Amino acid sequence: MKRLLMAATLSMTAMATAVFADGHGVTVGVSWSNFQEERWKTDEAAIKAALDEAGATYISADAQSSSAKQLSDVESLIAQGVDALIILAQDSAAVGPAVDAAAAEGIPVVGYDRLIEDSRAFYLTFDNVEVGRMQARAVLEAQPKGRYVMIKGSPTDPNADFLRGGQQEVLQAAIDAGDITIVDEAYTDGWLPANAQRNMEQILTANDNGVDAVVASNDGTAGGVVAALTAQGMEGIPVSGQDGDHAALNRVALGTQTVSVWKDARDLGKAAGEIAVALAGNDGDMSAVDGVQSWTSPGGTDMMAVFLEPVPVTAANLSTVVDAGWITKEALCQGVSGGPAPCN
Ligand code: BGC
Repeated sequence: MKRLLMAATLSMTAMATAVFADGHGVTVGVSWSNFQEERWKTDEAAIKAALDEAGATYISADAQSSSAKQLSDVESLIAQGVDALIILAQDSAAVGPAVDAAAAEGIPVVGYDRLIEDSRAFYLTFDNVEVGRMQARAVLEAQPKGRYVMIKGSPTDPNADFLRGGQQEVLQAAIDAGDITIVDEAYTDGWLPANAQRNMEQILTANDNGVDAVVASNDGTAGGVVAALTAQGMEGIPVSGQDGDHAALNRVALGTQTVSVWKDARDLGKAAGEIAVALAGNDGDMSAVDGVQSWTSPGGTDMMAVFLEPVPVTAANLSTVVDAGWITKEALCQGVSGGPAPCN
């Protein structure tokens, strides 16, 4: 139905412009859940750059953590004439009508980073189960025995349970052997660091501070956990995270966080922009996307997906993020004396 005059493929040159047969250019609408975590601005910049490169236009809306606003945002992006949508879902259970609305107009949808469990949505993300494994592996290596706390993500985000599943896989043998015990766990409403801090404070109180390690599911929640630990003079026990937030990488350098699983948001954003333009130009043929694979969700939905590989960053490989231009050495090493390379 919508055919591109010039193919909007991944190999399109910088000079090419994605234009439909009727002469209108490609517009991609991005529906953001919020910009609470540092990473989302990086994702956004990468999507914009990829669309720019393809000669496509970027428009967006920020749901500000409201699943209801996200639905009206998507309606509004559709009304503005988008040719493809990229959606970072605030609430996986509530986002369904957005996919229905897009499908009714023949507009392809990319479920960005978080699963939208609908086979009409393309699924582009990092391997979140592996992120969870990497978090638990790093903490287990630092603390092979003892009492563990699991600080999970938002209950409305499927990534929370993917992460938790990967964490459990890695810890199971040590649990079975009686080496570690999970003394408590809690979801973090809205992924809010303040909620993670409050949960951690309550868990410390309930357990008379009898905690040896914390598997926290992202860097924001890790920040809340470290604040709660610091208030009890317990900073320095193993804590995990993810995203490569600058503050978290600095904590890894300082020794108050064990690992930040780094997901290069620049790569995910670039892929999303390219995939959205490709789907806009090929009638939503997901099987034509570079590197696509079939994937069945835990709920049994058959999806077309692309998974990128995360990288665990610990004191042992901190230079990786500096070398990749993700963070400056100054920001990474702020306040660190005699720490791990490259801060020593
Ligand atoms: C993302 C994480 C992020 C979290 C909070 C998750 O779905 O995968 O990278 O930290 O949401 O925004």
